[in-house]
Order: sequence, then structure tokens, then C-alpha cells
Amino acid sequence: MSALLPTPLALDADAEAVLGWALESFRRVVIVASFQAESSVLIDMAARIRPGVEVLTLDTGRLPQETHDMIDRVRARYGVQVQVVAPDPDEVREMVTANGTNLFHSSPELRRLCCSVRKSRPLARALRGYDAWVTGLRRSQMATRAATTVVATDDEHGGIAKVAPLAAWSSDQVWAYIHEHEVPYHALYERGYTSIGCAPCTRATEPGEDERAGRWWWEQGEVKECGIHWRKP
Ligand code: SF4
Repeated sequence: MSALLPTPLALDADAEAVLGWALESFRRVVIVASFQAESSVLIDMAARIRPGVEVLTLDTGRLPQETHDMIDRVRARYGVQVQVVAPDPDEVREMVTANGTNLFHSSPELRRLCCSVRKSRPLARALRGYDAWVTGLRRSQMATRAATTVVATDDEHGGIAKVAPLAAWSSDQVWAYIHEHEVPYHALYERGYTSIGCAPCTRATEPGEDERAGRWWWEQGEVKECGIHWRKP
């Protein structure tokens, strides 16, 4: 169906209302979860609106153990089946044979290649057949996300709808929801992490640092995006 929102939802509205609208409006809709705090909120909301909601995650092959533990906790708490999507093994083999397993340290270009092979391409394959996907993007996470709308047509993925119910939320709102609803959250937040991706590419942040400063922290002047939500022009 069309990705046009009814007027009351167009102005950011209530995240739960946006999510409910998406789950009702599209034939096949999936939550794409990284199991960061925003994923915790979305899965909790969605499981109450639609038990058995589809959840998909990208297992890059380099995730921290704590992310796999979160998948187990979410499965147990909500009874949802989490579709775990892996990269193409031939693409990974070719990439690491040519560039090493730690290629992301060699250059921003090779880091983006790794993110493409392990994240963006598997997601593109996994989204085939869906009409909409739900993401935990928030505008305040970083400048490249400042224009995020609650719903958009995703031309990168065949024109399906991309829904971001938390687009207008602050980090404080996310954590207030988690505590109020006693939602399970990723263990690395207790160790100073403020954004969580692959193990070798994420570190804890210091007080006052940007929320995503711990991602690919060795890169200077590069945008801290993996390529799923932003492409280098
Ligand atoms: S975050 Fe690091 S390990 Fe993960 S896909 Fe990107 S470059 Fe590769």
C-alpha cells in the first residue's frame, strides 16, 4: 500500500500509534532490530500490539556475545521468533581473503566494504518480500539522522515503507520507557556504551562524548554510519 500517513500521524505523533498504524497498514512488516535500547522499546510496544510480530536482526559474524544474549532474552520475554540474517559466506570469504579479517582498521573505504558485506547487503536481501520495515532511528542520534521522518519511501529497498516511530524521541525518553515498562536492555549499556554495534568497532564512551563516539572511533572526519541509513555521496 501507499506509504502516506494519515494526517494526525504525520506530525510525529505518538510512537505507539505510529507503530500500530504500520502493523495494521502493511501486509508484511518487520522490525529490524540491532538490540540497542531503541529496539527494546519497539519490540516491547509491538509485542503488545501484535503478539508474534516479525523481528529481524543482522548477525554480522562480529557481534558481541551480549547481543546474542539479548536475542535470547527477547525471545524468552516476548515469545517472538527472531529471524537472524547472516552475510553471504562467499562474499565474506572473498573480502577477508583479500583484505584480512580486521580490514576495517585499514581504511574508511575497507570499513565501509565490511559494513556493506556484513550489514547492508544482507539487509537488502532480507527485506525482499516485505512491504515495510521498522527501525529505531532517532533524529537526535546524529546529524545524518536529523531529517528522519516517521515514515518514508525507502528507495534503497525497492520502494517499501521505512517507519521510524521513535524519530522524535530523545535518549532520555527511550530510557524512561525502558525503566517504566521494565524492558530488557543490552548489558553493554551498564559498561559505559552509548551505542552498540560489532565488537571490534564499538567501545564505551566517556561522559560528555557524543552518543556515537564509540563507533569506529579510530576514524577521523568520517560519518559514523554503517551504510544502512546513510550512504557516502
Ligand atoms: S561494524 Fe565493523 S565489523 Fe561490523 S560490519 Fe562494520 S566494519 Fe565490519
